[in-house]
Amino acid sequence: MFNTVELDNDVTVLLGDDQQSNSILLTKEESLIVVDTLCGESDVARLKEIVCCQGAPLRYIVNTHWHSDHIGGNSELKGIFPESSIIAHESYLDTVTTEESIIKTHPKPNPDDYLPPQILVTDSYEIVPDLQMMYAGGHSKDSCILYIPSKSLVICGDVVLSSGVNSGASIPYFYWGNPYDLVGALEKIRELNPRLLIPGHGWIVKPDIIDDHILYLQRLLAAYQEFCQDGSGQISDNCLPVSLELEKIVDCTKGMHWTFRKMHHYNLHCLEKLAKAKELV
Ligand SMILES: [Zn+2]
Repeated sequence: MFNTVELDNDVTVLLGDDQQSNSILLTKEESLIVVDTLCGESDVARLKEIVCCQGAPLRYIVNTHWHSDHIGGNSELKGIFPESSIIAHESYLDTVTTEESIIKTHPKPNPDDYLPPQILVTDSYEIVPDLQMMYAGGHSKDSCILYIPSKSLVICGDVVLSSGVNSGASIPYFYWGNPYDLVGALEKIRELNPRLLIPGHGWIVKPDIIDDHILYLQRLLAAYQEFCQDGSGQISDNCLPVSLELEKIVDCTKGMHWTFRKMHHYNLHCLEKLAKAKELV
């Protein structure tokens, strides 16, 4: 049974058990908005139960991005509340396609979960007054954040990742996206000067985590550039594969939970992938 945290009388965070992904239940103008819909049968069943017992209609299902660990309850909620609209970034389909092509094993995305959104967001979209959806990118091509100005609160999706209660430091994850874009996305959150952040996974955090996330990315990119550059200032073709070598140089995940060490390893693989595609210079 997952934890729920009532941040305010109209903001509840559901901290999922499966993949530790978070869902946020907002009450606005006597109707409900759910941001991200968890994954896994039991988490989705409980989400459904919580939403249904509120006694108010579900108006919007918002997805911070279209990875399968954030959209697991979309089709079930939409089935119960057919009048609700799904909101996502306009490039969500790229994220779906990338995930489908890369994930070969569990949790393979279920095509039934990928209901097309009714509202597509480009740069910025006011869902209701005092709830702004903004494009961020970085973690995935379609990553968005949600800002609630009156509460100085940002719902970050996977642009920010935290660990569980008292289980230490974390790092950001860009295997599906781009590290430079992720720095930009984090800076965008920092500019909003929020009081609290709700990450895509893990416990609610203070904004100091942004500086730590950016520092990790800058350190990784600096080491990578130094490692790969030849005399002409270009990334040379023979610098690959570098992941394991670079892991020795940038071992900044010591003491972290194994999931973050694994993410670090995948981040390094992503650097290689981008360099091979000449997308990282
Ligand atoms: Zn996620």
